[in-house]
Amino acid sequence: MGLQIGGVEKPVYMKTYHWANMNKWRIASRKYSFKRRQQILEKFGGKCNKCGFSDVRALQLDHVNGGGTKESCAIYRTGVQRRALENPSEYQLLCANCNIVKRYENNEHRKRLQMEV
Ligand SMILES: [Zn+2]
Repeated sequence: MGLQIGGVEKPVYMKTYHWANMNKWRIASRKYSFKRRQQILEKFGGKCNKCGFSDVRALQLDHVNGGGTKESCAIYRTGVQRRALENPSEYQLLCANCNIVKRYENNEHRKRLQMEV
């Protein structure tokens, strides 16, 4: 019986330990990315560059010189944040709406160019 309890307790303990660590890591990385995010928001004015929309939940980093869908990335992606902080002149904050509109316009523009050629 003692063994059984030990056998039951061990995995539970390990699970708890694992989860505690996971949560610690998760909270730490969330805190870190939150800090980064705040840094980005401050650097880029905290609102949409086109319409001034300031709800950070819908703000995204956008590559100013375009490059299509690949360049419009969610603000919480570490790689994009780092690049944006290193080359602030190449990025701007856009809200999700303006981002989609820009993407659409870019695609339309490209289509039109292709048609002209
Ligand atoms: Zn906007």
